[in-house]
Amino acid sequence: MQLLEDRIRREGVVKEGDVLKVDSFLNHQMDVSLFEAMGREWKRLFDGCGVNKILTIEASGIGMACIAAQSFHCPVVFAKKTATKNIAGEVWRTSVRSYTHGRVYDVIVSRDYLGPADRLLLIDDFLANGAALSGLLDLAMMSGATVVGAGIAIEKAYQPGGELIRSRGIRVESLARIKSMSESGGVEFC
Ligand code: 5GP
Repeated sequence: MQLLEDRIRREGVVKEGDVLKVDSFLNHQMDVSLFEAMGREWKRLFDGCGVNKILTIEASGIGMACIAAQSFHCPVVFAKKTATKNIAGEVWRTSVRSYTHGRVYDVIVSRDYLGPADRLLLIDDFLANGAALSGLLDLAMMSGATVVGAGIAIEKAYQPGGELIRSRGIRVESLARIKSMSESGGVEFC
């Protein structure tokens, strides 16, 4: 998606640890008009797939998922990161290794909000090693929901996540795919 690539070129900053900072429009300050365009693009790509719920993960996915939901006219559920062990039976639970913080945390979704009637579009801001998206897939599978596909804003295509998720038969639509990036050379797209 040209609009997103242009924005990353202009404002993205590559930090050490293979992290692209996009805080000025996506991860801290949020450009809602850009989110609207992204939502419309995911709607175009997944039109006719019967998406009736969007599932995302706390925190960065929530804003763009909510705006996308206005195109899909469906609710958004976000997987909550938690340290508390809820009573078994109330929630679907899995664990995820954080790309940016390195640690492993539990994510949960109430069983009230995810079940076999759901046809899910998974949404997240970045796809790197695929841990966050795998976590969402785990929760979806436990609940008996159908995963229609995944909408990703920025896929770092040189990292293994995209291949990992696609090899599980999941359709992944990334709006910007980064071929390579470095602190000195900036970002190159696929
Ligand atoms: P994964 O779980 O696929 O390894 O990484 C995806 C998650 O880590 C995303 O939810 C995102 O929050 C974070 N992440 C991974 N790579 C980057 C990056 O280059 N920049 C930022 N800002 N977040 C990233």
